Amino acid sequence: MKIQLVDLKAQYRSIKAEIDTAIQGVIDESAFIKGKYVTAFENEYAESYGVKHCVSCANGTDAIYIALKALGIGVGDEVITTALTWISTAEAITQTGARVVFVDIEPTYYAIDARRIEDKVTPRTKAIIPVHLYGHPANMDAIMSIAEKHGLYVVEDCAQAHFAQWKGQNVGTFGVAGTFSFFPSKNLGAYGDAGCIVSNDDGFSVRARMFANHGSVVKHQHDTEGINSRMDGIQAAILSVKLRHVGEWNKLRIMHAKRYNELLCDVVLTPSNHPEARHVFHLYVVRTEKRDDLRKRLEANDIATGVHYPTALPFLKAYAHLGHEPRDFSVAHTCSSQIVSLPMYPELTDETQDVVVQAIRGADAIYSP
Ligand SMILES: *Cc1c(COP(=O)(O)O)cnc(C)c1O
Repeated sequence: MKIQLVDLKAQYRSIKAEIDTAIQGVIDESAFIKGKYVTAFENEYAESYGVKHCVSCANGTDAIYIALKALGIGVGDEVITTALTWISTAEAITQTGARVVFVDIEPTYYAIDARRIEDKVTPRTKAIIPVHLYGHPANMDAIMSIAEKHGLYVVEDCAQAHFAQWKGQNVGTFGVAGTFSFFPSKNLGAYGDAGCIVSNDDGFSVRARMFANHGSVVKHQHDTEGINSRMDGIQAAILSVKLRHVGEWNKLRIMHAKRYNELLCDVVLTPSNHPEARHVFHLYVVRTEKRDDLRKRLEANDIATGVHYPTALPFLKAYAHLGHEPRDFSVAHTCSSQIVSLPMYPELTDETQDVVVQAIRGADAIYSP
């Protein structure tokens, strides 16, 4: 039987009755767009996350875009972000009309290298978007102090890091806003697209809510133009169910990661956990110079792997106009040829994990970390 990177069917089986009831409730009440299920989820997420406001939207890419627009960022501005992330982070910056400015990653935790941020700050810089990549928090002390020194906004891309913590504080609550994706495979995932923005700033939250809803708070009053970015009632009802379980699921991910670490640390470079960080292992990413061999070997054993991400953003064709060379982002460039994501999801069993480990440890293949 094929071992998948993520097993969403196993998760559905474990909460089927709750999910089916929730979906049926939305259909019975025709609460498809906005409405009570969306409001309920917003309140529950804000409460469990420990923030004043949760503004729901259609997906995690929109969440970043809406946050930047609500901060007034646009043409003529620059926004700094990491070289190694999903393209959404950079796309959302460009969509506002601002210029994306990449910074290399640091080699241990793979997030933006805070020591290299100040070199990229110019009079046009308005914001920094750190990404808590794979579920491991970026160094929020260093990032916040640079932001304060230069008067920059911080918008945290938390798409991979629901309930990850830096020094015991949830990521997404350090900067003016934290943005989330509820894409199905994320640690908290809907059954379609969904996203949200969390914030403790009242004015910002009103502007974000307005922009996501055609520039309107009160029906038929439009102070500005906005966009249509709404969460479906069905997705909200599903997320309310899953929110009750995500704490336990994150604990299981952390447990599986610890076990992988023990079983693999002498054959590949296993993920590091900063002493001040709570890593929630959206992805379990190991590193080896023989990455492509390793992937082939696992594929031959019917074990899925992934690479997040095979090309650092500055080297994608989409950013060729920026004229970046490998030496400009040498850490991201090297890592992208060595990283590989192994099967990781809460329902992963020890038996399944052992099959993955055996395939990696196979007698003829030792991958020096
Ligand atoms: C998934 C993801 C997003 C975007 O989320 P969507 O809901 O798919 O739009 C943004 N940033 C990162 C780092 C992600 O992993």
